[in-house]
Amino acid sequence: MSVSTEVNTKYEAVIGLEVHLQLLTKSKIFCSCSTHFGDPPNSHVCPVCLGLPGALPVLNRDVVTMAMKAALALNCGINPRSRFARKNYFYPDLPKGYQISQYDEPLAEHGWLEIEVGDERKRIGITRVHLEEDAGKSLHEGFPDSDRKSYIDLNRSGVPLIEIVSEPDLRTPAEAYAYVTLLKTIMLYLGVSNCNMEEGSLRCDANVSVRVAGATEFGTKTEVKNLNSFRFLERALAYEIERQIGVLEEGGTISQETRLWDSHEQRTYMMRSKEFAHDYRYFPEPDLLPLEITERWKEEARRSLPELPQSREARFTEAYGLPKQDAALLTASKTTADFFEEVAKAGAEAKQAANWILNEYAFLLQEAKVEFADSPVKAADFAKLLTLLGAKTLSGTMAKEVLHEMIVSRKGPDEIVAAKGLQQINNTDKIAEIARDIIAKNPKQTDQYRQGKTATLGWFVGQVMKATRGQANPQVVQEVLKKELS
Ligand code: ADP
Ligand code: ZN
Ligand code: MG
Repeated sequence: MSVSTEVNTKYEAVIGLEVHLQLLTKSKIFCSCSTHFGDPPNSHVCPVCLGLPGALPVLNRDVVTMAMKAALALNCGINPRSRFARKNYFYPDLPKGYQISQYDEPLAEHGWLEIEVGDERKRIGITRVHLEEDAGKSLHEGFPDSDRKSYIDLNRSGVPLIEIVSEPDLRTPAEAYAYVTLLKTIMLYLGVSNCNMEEGSLRCDANVSVRVAGATEFGTKTEVKNLNSFRFLERALAYEIERQIGVLEEGGTISQETRLWDSHEQRTYMMRSKEFAHDYRYFPEPDLLPLEITERWKEEARRSLPELPQSREARFTEAYGLPKQDAALLTASKTTADFFEEVAKAGAEAKQAANWILNEYAFLLQEAKVEFADSPVKAADFAKLLTLLGAKTLSGTMAKEVLHEMIVSRKGPDEIVAAKGLQQINNTDKIAEIARDIIAKNPKQTDQYRQGKTATLGWFVGQVMKATRGQANPQVVQEVLKKELS
């Protein structure tokens, strides 16, 4: 299936995303069971999250605080009063036969995020952020054999979720990608979710329709589920846009349905026709009081927000004079940004610190298979290393060697430099002595240089570096050699 470019530009896509995030509270939303991931099936359950008759939910205050932080960071207004509602549907991993969610009175509304695609900035509306509980998980075995079995693990039942619904403001798969990436970065900064797609703590459903470019009405949308990476989200949208255009071009109509992304076949296929709100028979949850948010509680949540990645990026370019690209890379993770600032505070020159963190250090960590957050290298030691480099005590090559040692041996730079005898030789007399020796032993190369083949200088530099086991300052070596050779 491939639609020509000409046909493609005739249409415009409209995309809205629904993102579910598991919150990092210790206990579940309506009971005190642990939310810990990966434990034996059904080890974190109680009458409430098993949905036993008569068990009553009690709202976990931390869930609301975390959800408010998320909503505030997304520029939403917090409703002073919101309400839980029952969303009724049958599914084996939903023991009560309904999910406690929020419906017409959500926790927060009317937010926005400003995404960046290429050189363009664009504001994407956020319709709402609401609270709900997660369902359990079904595990299937033996598929597609005849003796297949299904198991249910209710550890996930009652794990707190927020659902973040965007306005249909996105127009391309690249914008959708930028939106979820930014959303994830912000949530990681806040520490409200680990956003791990593989473990299902971040799940994204994509709604997409197409319309003739310039049309004012939206087309009929489909909803794509089962997207377990942001790249798949991007590809699934591209596929779905082409598919819908193909259907319309052939004179067909799009039916409102839920589709699944098949990453092996790189296509979407129909799962079921769309369910509508009335199918869920939403009604207010009678077992919980309306959720009242005091001004004080809201302000507490607001005050606990860290500096968010986009303003931090802007500050990094201004305060430290960093190129935008570097500032963006450093602030993409809070851990990296915090580390950079500590290194700079410890006295390192900012641009050099940024360079070394983003290049040499990132490379060495990757090589040693150590995650940035797990690295033993302390900011103060990193700054010291850069000072040694700045003072020409260490050459770039030596500094890299020391940094490698700092990662694998967990020692500080001074200790490593002393143990390895790694000191850059800057002493002109000492270098001149070595240079004269090499010149005396290599009359052929010396003649060549003196006859004007100045490229031979590089060869001499190499010899001196070799003789000093790489410890001579190459700049000093060059100067000394030029003098001694002339
Ligand atoms: P539904 O009632 O089908 O759940 P909603 O109005 O609640 O639809 O919207 C769900 C998501 O779909 C939102 O993210 C919204 O932005 C998006 N959306 C709504 N209409 C369209 C459309 N015509 N095309 C693409 N996305 C849409
Ligand atoms: Zn429980
Ligand atoms: Mg909806």
